[in-house]
Amino acid sequence: MPTTNSPSLIEKIAEKLHLIPNLHQDLGKEVPRLTEPGNLTNYPPPEKWDDWVEYEAKSWPRRHTKHYMVVPTTCFNCEAGCGLLSYIDKSTMQVRKFEGNPYHPGSRGRNCAKGPATINQITDTDRILYPQKRTGKRGAGQWERVSWDAVLDDIAGRIRKALQEKRHNEVVYHVGRPGHEGYMDRILQSWGVDGHNSHTNICSAGARFGYAIWQMYDRPSPDHANANFILLISAHLESGHYFNPHAQRIIEGMMNGAKLAVMDPRLSNTASMADYWMPTYPGSEAAVLLAIAKVIIDERLYNRAYLCDWVNWQQYLQHERPNDEVTFDDFILALKAAYKEYTPAFAEKESGVPAKTIVEVARQIGRAGTRFATHNWRSAGSGNLGGWAVARCLHFLNVLTGSVGTVGGTSPSAWSKFKPTVPHKPPAQKFWNELHFPNEYPLAHYEMSFLLPHFLKEGRGKLDTYFTRVFNPVWTYPDGFSWIEALSDESKVGLHAALTPTWNETAYFADYVLPMGHASERHDIISYETHSGLWIAFRQPVLREARRKMGKPVQFTYESNPGEVWEEDEFWIELSWRIDPDGSLGIKKHFISPYRPGEKITIDEYYQYIFERTPGLPEKAAEHKMTPLDYMRKFGAFEVEQTSYNKHLRPIAAADLQGAETDSATGLIKKAGKNLDVLINGVACEGFPTPSRKQEFFSPTMIDWGWSEYKIPTYIKSHIHPDTLDRSKGEFPLVPTFRLPTLIHSRSGNAKWLYEISNRNPIWMHTSDAKKLGIQTGDLLRVTTDIGYFVDRVWVTEGIKPGVVACSHHLGRWRRPQDAVGNRWATSLVEINNAGANGRSPLQNGGHQWQMKTIDTIRPYKSSDPDSARIFWSDGGVHQNITFPVHPDPISGMHCWHQKVRIEKAHAEDRYGDVFVDTQKSFEIYQEWLKMTRPAPGPNGLRRPLWLNRPLRPVEELFYL
Ligand code: SF4
Repeated sequence: MPTTNSPSLIEKIAEKLHLIPNLHQDLGKEVPRLTEPGNLTNYPPPEKWDDWVEYEAKSWPRRHTKHYMVVPTTCFNCEAGCGLLSYIDKSTMQVRKFEGNPYHPGSRGRNCAKGPATINQITDTDRILYPQKRTGKRGAGQWERVSWDAVLDDIAGRIRKALQEKRHNEVVYHVGRPGHEGYMDRILQSWGVDGHNSHTNICSAGARFGYAIWQMYDRPSPDHANANFILLISAHLESGHYFNPHAQRIIEGMMNGAKLAVMDPRLSNTASMADYWMPTYPGSEAAVLLAIAKVIIDERLYNRAYLCDWVNWQQYLQHERPNDEVTFDDFILALKAAYKEYTPAFAEKESGVPAKTIVEVARQIGRAGTRFATHNWRSAGSGNLGGWAVARCLHFLNVLTGSVGTVGGTSPSAWSKFKPTVPHKPPAQKFWNELHFPNEYPLAHYEMSFLLPHFLKEGRGKLDTYFTRVFNPVWTYPDGFSWIEALSDESKVGLHAALTPTWNETAYFADYVLPMGHASERHDIISYETHSGLWIAFRQPVLREARRKMGKPVQFTYESNPGEVWEEDEFWIELSWRIDPDGSLGIKKHFISPYRPGEKITIDEYYQYIFERTPGLPEKAAEHKMTPLDYMRKFGAFEVEQTSYNKHLRPIAAADLQGAETDSATGLIKKAGKNLDVLINGVACEGFPTPSRKQEFFSPTMIDWGWSEYKIPTYIKSHIHPDTLDRSKGEFPLVPTFRLPTLIHSRSGNAKWLYEISNRNPIWMHTSDAKKLGIQTGDLLRVTTDIGYFVDRVWVTEGIKPGVVACSHHLGRWRRPQDAVGNRWATSLVEINNAGANGRSPLQNGGHQWQMKTIDTIRPYKSSDPDSARIFWSDGGVHQNITFPVHPDPISGMHCWHQKVRIEKAHAEDRYGDVFVDTQKSFEIYQEWLKMTRPAPGPNGLRRPLWLNRPLRPVEELFYL
């Protein structure tokens, strides 16, 4: 390709005088291509992956070629698990860049900004390279380097002692970013502990419960690409879970004519792409969805056949009208009666969305019929008291239109998620950890993880050994100062080991900081419901794989990673082996090689075992003359099923029906007292894993557990409903749940490209509100919550609903002067004290008032990365989550993120980034919300319903109190 730019006079002189390199020596000459022209030359062909040649960009204008080995892995920067190709410079054995993996069925060669930014994370000059042990007081910031051997021996000894003394519930693993398909369940159950805690109840548990109460499966898998109408609650196109895989398919659907509607109080990038932006008042979404349902019912736009076959309407009528005949037409009449209040006018009053728009969208949905794709992840489901009802009402629209599991519709998540067969699977544990599943929250969909500091404070238990994995509750969770209080107290948390790729606000309060790898430095398998299909992807340590291919294998991944950065998979195998060296605890047998009797399993053998049992993979690998493990090492992903529609229709084998009885009214097939399948139109089908085997519009479970007012999909008024606000006092609802698409939850701080793009989180305020308050963009505001306040700047915009304010999360990272230097692209230096506000001493306030003040901003610094001297931003945003009290939803257990706040201009003493919190008040608010619960036992003395999922499910007898 000829170069075309002509040099200017100044350039010519500078080149002649050798002040700059001769940039134009090739002018007019043909530069030889290294690849054939064509559509697929963006991706190197796999046959060249072992020796891929590219020009070295940094040598320009000289034409130096570089030889790379291309090794696939999987992104770790959100849950989508997109494919990456790493380019390893064969001369230096350094990873030079990451691009998309075209062989990944979910991401299909594409990534968002965060995928390629993995290179920033692995080359971060501040990263933790060696295991660290604290030497001073916990939280004092004094560390020493220790060996992995010493770490393993110390922690294994503690766990062994706890297990021998039957203190199983004191051993806990708390995960932020998972993505390892059952690996930890296997580890924890081999130890026999009920020790799984997760971040899900501050993330998606609200929405999950709304889906689960319908069909047990707790997430949607929309088939956007084939839809005629797509309805998203919030900014899913740009920043939701699976958002790169979803975004490409939403755009595909729209290019084929699908219409998009978005409910969001913000004019997000997603809303700006939509055909219908429905700026709902936060928490009113369920009212709008039920108004849409009413239009669909009243105008007979529903799918009669689907409702008749797959909804438990007979049960509903039997419950509502026990003496009447049960007919489907009566059910439709009952539906009309049940939802008569939910008129579009009522929904407009609650939400502010014009009734006309609601009716128009409802008719479009009705017309789309079975090709109606929907999604709700966190957003409204995670913001509001009763937020779970949003997902429940959204799914109601899929049920009404018969678009559950169809082409262009919305399938249950599990249909598109692969479950691996693992070696030596341990049995369910015989412990129930009430710090995770307390009796007050019998329907909590996941662990009540964000209440842990309050439970510890109340003396409900303590932790002997507490692992946090890629998890940062001090910063991510509400009420972070209560976490600092709990983690600082060695009588509550005996040992805290933070497994993390990077320093973070929680790791500062650990006893061990154990460096774990980023996406290209670890093993995992991943499978997610990105579309109607089913795939698995392999995350692998790429330098280890490159060395193996070059004939220089290593025993442990830390031998090929930078420093001694390890990975959890191997860490857990080694730890388990040392907890039970003689096998007397029954743990060791789960870590024996399935291929070499009596010997310790290797990580390669673990994945070899799984891949050999992945349907279709051995055959596919054989086509390439490879083993299944080598196929995954080579391509990084495998498509198990191209499509996964209508799995509820799978017929039941006649042999399985022998001895079964069928209920003539409902079609329910029972055998040996258990509900098995369902008879639909004369065919015994698998159905859904609910008690009725159908979609449970009517929920006997809600009645059984004391919530009969929610027996059918219902709108629940949020804790930030306008009725609760006093506008005369400057009160607003704050939406703190949106994220900027280029940031990772708590791991952007070491990714310079991402912070260069996004580094501030101002308060969004509508122009009309700003005018009333006399506020302009850039003004400092004090935002007061129920437990404290934060000080932030304001962005006055038309892009937010009047009367609502919003602030993005993922910004406001900090470190204290005593902390290890880290994440300097993102962290402000802060001073934290709990001497109390207004100069009061800790004695006066009991040490429960905390202040944070910024003492230095982000600034350029010298390091081996020249870019660190070029930092041009000083703003890292403001930490808002730490000023929020806990708001546990009494049903789903979800933390309800939205806040009622008071907005005022900053006080004279306020500075940008100031934070103040009173943890005594946060404890009182926890107790107030606790009073809303309706505790177990439920029917038959149960702690929670048997049919709903429970993470790390214990043996069944423990479900009974
Ligand atoms: S969408 Fe998620 S998994 Fe995919 S590239 Fe972006 S951060 Fe990585």
